[in-house]
Amino acid sequence: MSKTTVESLATDLHALPSQVQHVLAELGAEGDNGKLELDADTLEIVKEAVGEMVQNKQIALLTGSTPRDIASALNIGHAEVQKSLVKAGTLVALTTALQPEVAERIVESFGYSVKWAEPPKPKIKQEDDRVRKRAIGTQPRPPVVTILGHVDHGKTSLLDYIRKTKVAEKEHGGITQHIGAYQIVHDGKKITFLDTPGHEAFTAMRARGAQVTDIAILVIAADDGIMPQTVEAINHAKAANVPIIVAATKVDKPEANVNKVKQQLTEHELVSEDFGGTTPVVPVSAKTGEGIANLLELILLQSELMDLKADPGGEVEGVVIEARLDKGRGPVATVLIENGTLKVGDTALIGNAWGRIKAMFDFQGSPVKDAGPSTPVEILGLDSVPNAGDHIRQYLDEREARETAEKIRDAERESQLAGKSAKVSLETLKQRMEEGESKELRIVIKADVQGSVEAVRGLIEKIENPEVDVKVLHAGVGSITANDVLLASAASAIVVGFNTKVEPTATSEAERHRVQIRQYRIIYELIEDIERAVKGMLEPKYEEKYLGTVEIRQAFKLSKAGAVAGCYVSDGLINRNAQVRVKRAGEVIWEGKLESLKRFKDDVREVAAGFECGLQFDGWKDFEVGDQIEAFETVRVDA
Ligand code: GDP
Repeated sequence: MSKTTVESLATDLHALPSQVQHVLAELGAEGDNGKLELDADTLEIVKEAVGEMVQNKQIALLTGSTPRDIASALNIGHAEVQKSLVKAGTLVALTTALQPEVAERIVESFGYSVKWAEPPKPKIKQEDDRVRKRAIGTQPRPPVVTILGHVDHGKTSLLDYIRKTKVAEKEHGGITQHIGAYQIVHDGKKITFLDTPGHEAFTAMRARGAQVTDIAILVIAADDGIMPQTVEAINHAKAANVPIIVAATKVDKPEANVNKVKQQLTEHELVSEDFGGTTPVVPVSAKTGEGIANLLELILLQSELMDLKADPGGEVEGVVIEARLDKGRGPVATVLIENGTLKVGDTALIGNAWGRIKAMFDFQGSPVKDAGPSTPVEILGLDSVPNAGDHIRQYLDEREARETAEKIRDAERESQLAGKSAKVSLETLKQRMEEGESKELRIVIKADVQGSVEAVRGLIEKIENPEVDVKVLHAGVGSITANDVLLASAASAIVVGFNTKVEPTATSEAERHRVQIRQYRIIYELIEDIERAVKGMLEPKYEEKYLGTVEIRQAFKLSKAGAVAGCYVSDGLINRNAQVRVKRAGEVIWEGKLESLKRFKDDVREVAAGFECGLQFDGWKDFEVGDQIEAFETVRVDA
């Protein structure tokens, strides 16, 4: 046995005390007051493990570490850590639990990397992310509620009734504002309602990676029962992993039948509490107000169960609920704050828009100076209109915010030019699995008639594979709609159509969100494709896409820059990433890539027909005046 201390071990090993402490903690060999008694073998193990951390420049942190923890792990002053936080655009208290990404960024700025002593959950599924987010912070926050359901079942009436009866009238009696969300107080507790009902908006936000809803209220008219959009809404809420409370509404009507609603719900795995399940079903009426207090109580109860928390002093996080260009006021955005506190005067980057916040208004149109977790606020001062679902980030430095906004705009332009292939497709399933992205193939099915929906669903669900779970998220009758695509996008799924059409809006949404739509007329081809994809046997197909024709009109052989072809684009266009085929007297004499594309002296991304340009070829210079160049791209065709 040899006696030592953490400090002296650290000095001997040229290590940080925190590295030694971490290794000791892992071995369960912590001593009292830093005094250690280790046998020779343990000492060797400790030395080796600490040595490894020193070599890899690693420090260990627990999830939820604060700036103070980082300072002590790095053995530096608090001020230094705070300086680095400020540089990263984050202003938080020394005792604020940092998001893992932020902690990593800060530690990296000191040349170290983080070894998570209790590793954060992998960021694969949004659901997991939500769980992490819900638990972050120390202060309880109000729940954010969305109302879903079939058209005409009473969603708007319910929202209006709650708003009318639960929001105290403002003294100035101002105009009722609709900023996309409002907040009520029931039993002294707040609830935030998103007032764009329906799963379209709900899923459109999710498709943009923003899930703000904590609880979904599924409205079902008790005189009508479950309808097709009710089923869609159920599947959308389930895919988002959001708890559902059912409001069986219009119970003031004589033909209302709540029991029938409960019965129908069991077919969708929502079993009401009095049928032995866990789904609350509340009879309500937006006409008489019956049951609405009960509904609000259940929302608060559910929210308590979920232990929703945030950190008002932490990093600002929030999502745009809606945004528009106002003639008098310029770009206006409603942001739902998720964490931290946003203040007038803060510099913010939202999507690709940025600005210094000039003014903020609550949902009743009153000016406010700050907004904390779960609060919807309208903000003014952005330089352009962001999109619903965009995330907000707070910056301390205006220049940095502007430059980042410009970079994002550039990148967006570039990716539009480059074209995109589907993010999830049958062809890339195997690759995604190997990269650890997914072990599940999620599918949305649309077919011409109920019979084929059932047939396709039955066959797909029968496909078995030890490595991949095939899961049908939603199956319905009719053409493929934008909604189906948004659901697929939000849940990283593909859309399969059988004997059905694709609505034009669905095609454009699919392009925008890079969702694969596959259509079939023969059922066994559909099943075979999915089976082969699951086995990883479906190879992506590539196709050549013609870009343009370019003539070589001059040949410069410069000693320094090499050989440059002076060209004229006679058809289409040529871009920097194009592949080229050089033809002389009709014969292809060279094929390859460009080394550079210039207009006058400047490098450019693209030159269109009717303009001159200078070209250099990657590793080839034997061109002649009169050669014809065909420019093309190879694109992946997914469906
Ligand atoms: P939404 O399309 O789901 O937003 O449905 P609305 O809120 O617009 O309601 C559709 C129709 O049902 C309207 O004519 C409402 O007046 C009526 N309605 C909504 N809720 C109730 C209710 O609780 N009782 C009765 N009798 N009618 C209702």
